Amino acid sequence: MNYYSLNKKAPNTTFKNAVIKGLAPDKGLYFPESITPLTKSFFDDIDKLSYSEIAFEAIKQFVLPEIPEDILKTIVEETLSFDFPVVQLNDNISTLELFHGPTMAFKDVGARFMARCLGYFNRDNDEEVTVLVATSGDTGGAVANGFLGVKGVNVVILYPSGKVSDIQEKQLTTLGQNIKALEVNGTFDDCQAMVKTAFLDEDLISKMQLTSANSINVARWLPQLFYFMFAYKQLHNTYDDIVFSVPSGNFGNVCAGMMAQQLGLPIKHFIASNNLNNVVTRYLVSQLYEPKPSIQTISNAMDVGAPSNFIRIQEIYKNDFSTLKENISSYSFTDEETRDAMLEIYNSYNYVADPHGAVGYLGCKSYLQDNPNAHCVFLETAHPTKFLDVVEDVIKTKQPLPKQIQSVMGKDKEATIISSYEDLKSYLL
Ligand SMILES: *Cc1c(COP(=O)(O)O)cnc(C)c1O
Repeated sequence: MNYYSLNKKAPNTTFKNAVIKGLAPDKGLYFPESITPLTKSFFDDIDKLSYSEIAFEAIKQFVLPEIPEDILKTIVEETLSFDFPVVQLNDNISTLELFHGPTMAFKDVGARFMARCLGYFNRDNDEEVTVLVATSGDTGGAVANGFLGVKGVNVVILYPSGKVSDIQEKQLTTLGQNIKALEVNGTFDDCQAMVKTAFLDEDLISKMQLTSANSINVARWLPQLFYFMFAYKQLHNTYDDIVFSVPSGNFGNVCAGMMAQQLGLPIKHFIASNNLNNVVTRYLVSQLYEPKPSIQTISNAMDVGAPSNFIRIQEIYKNDFSTLKENISSYSFTDEETRDAMLEIYNSYNYVADPHGAVGYLGCKSYLQDNPNAHCVFLETAHPTKFLDVVEDVIKTKQPLPKQIQSVMGKDKEATIISSYEDLKSYLL
């Protein structure tokens, strides 16, 4: 499969090149040249397929032939070595738990898939690749874990000082080896801006091979379409009108769901659930796209002022506002509403949701008011203990720490403090 740049001022390129470069030379995001729907029998027979088989069939058109079939099968199997259960709360609402991976956030799948693709492309290449990534919380840990020990790849993670949870910070600062953490005096937007400046810095990129492991990278973004298929497999015999509420920040996850829909998955509607960082919620009302600086909330992985994948969503719906509106709704919620939702979920269903999942739950409730016959699946994008302070404070109950979290708690943080792009550049060189 070849990819084109959404800025349309760079040559089309291969999957391999798109993964290694991250962004196109004209700074556009890459997008696949074509999307061929899967066959009807694929969906009819989905009950008979394993998760790895579903994922392989769904992703192969975007990856072959640069990764051979047998290797892609192995990559998919290794990526998906944990479960993706749907838990039903009531007749109208379920949650898809995406937190059973090594760092307990949904980003594990994209990070593990991308790391393996890059490892394959780099297998007999002497030139090192540096993965530069900005994180608002969970990307850092997932990328650190996914890329740990991958030959020929160095990982540099920028995170905003004091704005990620303790557990998130541990996950990205304690691994060592080829993983380096930079603690930035600033916000997530500052981290993201520094990363963007680095990719634009001709002097820097002439001296090193840089790539991104944010969801702008096609190998991080596309595997997220698996989730929607896994939920469908678990629910399609029970419910017809399945809609997804996706807690959204950079809009990579919901956009991947739309790719699953383009592949033929019968998804009726998407709900982009936002905290107060709500540029898309506002856009769907006013048709004016007005990014704003990010605001800090208790669902910090969604504190994104200018969602990088929204341009891909517009491409999927051919920049047609009315088609977009038919397929996606968006709602925005305050921290207070989020806390109330966490308590409601706990009291009504004896289920512990993290703040991001709770925003997704609120999105379901808003949508169901006008669409009472739908079955809404909200994505539980992180395990509640990743946000221990908020969760325990709201439900007033101690939470046991899962083994994945326990394993990083005792380790020592190693991070370099930086304050400016110049600091970043001299660190990289
Ligand atoms: C990254 C993240 C999100 C937002 O996902 P996007 O693909 O950026 O929209 C939501 N919840 C959690 C827990 C995350 O880590």
